[in-house]
Amino acid sequence: MSNSSRSPQFIDEKVVSFLGNRFGRLVVTAFIGKLAERGRSICEFKCDCGNVIYRRYSAIATKSGGRSCGCIRIERARVATIKALTKHGMTATPEHSSWASMKGRCYNKNDHAWSRYGGRGISIYPAWRSDFSAFYKHIGPRPTPEHSVDRIDNDGNYEPGNVRWATPRQQACNRRNSIYIEVNGELAVVSRMARKYGVPVQLVYKRLRRGWCGDDAILVPNGAARTPPSTPPSHRSSDNAPCPIPVSSDSKQTDE
Ligand SMILES: [Zn+2]
Repeated sequence: MSNSSRSPQFIDEKVVSFLGNRFGRLVVTAFIGKLAERGRSICEFKCDCGNVIYRRYSAIATKSGGRSCGCIRIERARVATIKALTKHGMTATPEHSSWASMKGRCYNKNDHAWSRYGGRGISIYPAWRSDFSAFYKHIGPRPTPEHSVDRIDNDGNYEPGNVRWATPRQQACNRRNSIYIEVNGELAVVSRMARKYGVPVQLVYKRLRRGWCGDDAILVPNGAARTPPSTPPSHRSSDNAPCPIPVSSDSKQTDE
């Protein structure tokens, strides 16, 4: 029995069994005919995307023929393009929006919140400012839509160790903890003052808890006695009163 006399019947039976077979996104919907050469079957395939294509059955059934009308490749190319354009592929995410807003607050003088951020020296860790991925890697995904980027030390910068996702309630509590002190006639928050004078902020807090006033907490060298004899007694009367003035700053807006 020759191959040619047996083949047509054999293929027809096989082809009937092909109908409905699925390969990736393609489903065999009809048998169209056979190629003269080697009797290969041509079938109609319907793709999940709606396209209809005609291909050799064997080409689709083996991986080399692809598993869609071509739409998978187009989709992948589109995704790759977007990724290449944005580098991280998260442009449309809330995390990226938060990052972009943060940069606006700190570096765009036209931003409505700039005066409360960039305008008073709040900056962003350089690696985060230039690269969303680095920022995201540190802070992670936003837990809920209620959360926004918060600085743990409300007067510190957006930098490693000082950012977290926080709810408006957490942020309000955080702001109430701001303690203002007066040094050389200037009123500012403890952390800012400590930075300005290069004093460890923990030392300043420790001294304030002991009742030291702002000038002493900041200006007396670490390890030195509290009151230099030459210090005028102008503010000495408050020695026993807590010197730091807790200032409620609830009217401040939350980080966005
Ligand atoms: Zn398709």
